Amino acid sequence: APAAARLCAGGEAAAAGGDGALLRHLCRKLRASGPVTVAEYMREALTNPAQGYYTRRGGIGESGDFITSPEISQVFGELIGIWYISEWMAMGKPNTFQLVELGPGRGTLIEDILRVFNQLSSVLSKCDVSVHLVEVSPKLGEIQARMLTGGKVQPSHEDESAYMKGISKTGIPIFWYRDIQDVPSGYSFYLAHEFFDALPIHKFQRTEKGWREVLIDIDPEVPDQLRFVLSPSSTPATENFIQPEETRDHVEVCPEAGVIIQRLACRIEKDGGAALVADYGHDGTKTDTFRGFRNHKLHDVLSAPGTADLTADVDFSYLRKMAQERTTTLGPIKQREFLKNMGIDLRLQVLLQNSHDTATREQLLHSYDMLMNPENMGDCFNFFALLPHHRLVHPDKKDKPESKSSSLPVAGFNELLLK
Ligand code: SAH
Repeated sequence: APAAARLCAGGEAAAAGGDGALLRHLCRKLRASGPVTVAEYMREALTNPAQGYYTRRGGIGESGDFITSPEISQVFGELIGIWYISEWMAMGKPNTFQLVELGPGRGTLIEDILRVFNQLSSVLSKCDVSVHLVEVSPKLGEIQARMLTGGKVQPSHEDESAYMKGISKTGIPIFWYRDIQDVPSGYSFYLAHEFFDALPIHKFQRTEKGWREVLIDIDPEVPDQLRFVLSPSSTPATENFIQPEETRDHVEVCPEAGVIIQRLACRIEKDGGAALVADYGHDGTKTDTFRGFRNHKLHDVLSAPGTADLTADVDFSYLRKMAQERTTTLGPIKQREFLKNMGIDLRLQVLLQNSHDTATREQLLHSYDMLMNPENMGDCFNFFALLPHHRLVHPDKKDKPESKSSSLPVAGFNELLLK
């Protein structure tokens, strides 16, 4: 598990937090109605409306609990902004699109993307762009509003599906929602960076008697201490989520990720656009990846729920399966390959040439190393995309979509050939 990815940035210690209210709430529930699934526990710990980690803390950044690529370097968001413009051009420059981000954190990534859109406004000039943010945490929603609009937001009217709206510093309308289903339909580019890893997973263990779901219960020996137990018999989830040909002994499944990918694939198939997913993960090979982070250190997932970030690697093979061939899928491809294909080396050179003090240059080189080095985030983070089937068919070969050799390159997933 990429502990290195969530680097120890040496920031000030985050407030200890957690008066144990969520643990007491969970223990009451467990005593009353028995063990819960890991998914139910994870959902409570992260997004309980009063006591969840993201609802209360959401400690992203150096002074928080974990740091993410957009928080490390502006280059990350800039290259992703270029990816969307490149796809918009490849799809014939439609005259309007929505940029939809799932789980925008502090809003840094979308801010960097909007800066690129503004710099390339001559290219995008005749295009009507709007931004749609899906965020459950009111606290992070507020931070995003401050970052993107300078705090100038207003609650939406009751007949609107957004809960808040505002205008970006560069003049683009921004809307906030709690659920992807509330985002209006229409030609859209979707973005999910470190979003799917925060969605609740089910865990399963192979035993001599067959597959059993891992559950969470109270330890009878220690008051208010949680522990893992196995379901005594198979549960509906074991029947539904374990494939007969499965060879691993321990499997994690995130049905909520599957549902969201299905929705994205349906929307892209119907209205056009593309989705870019970036996260740490595997292609259906890893087993036990459930872990917690607090103050940049690994944290026992069962202790002090609500005070630590809980996460599990994204299973990209499951996401691909859940797209159900409604769209083409590309990847997963390693972050260092994707960013290299997007031209990160050239961008670094330009920034180095334009910076005249040693501290800035060192900072640029350090953040490049964080994003690209296989020992940091270069290898464990992956990019994955959903695209309409027709995107990969060469215009001259539309009648023969089976001829793969005519595929048009997609930025990031292919080496960019600068003409
Ligand atoms: N993309 C950001 C933040 C990642 S943290 C970055 O890379 O820095 C995960 C984000 O997803 C947070 O903004 C969190 O509040 C949000 N989130 C978690 N579960 C969610 C859910 N079920 N629906 C919508 N947003 C969710």
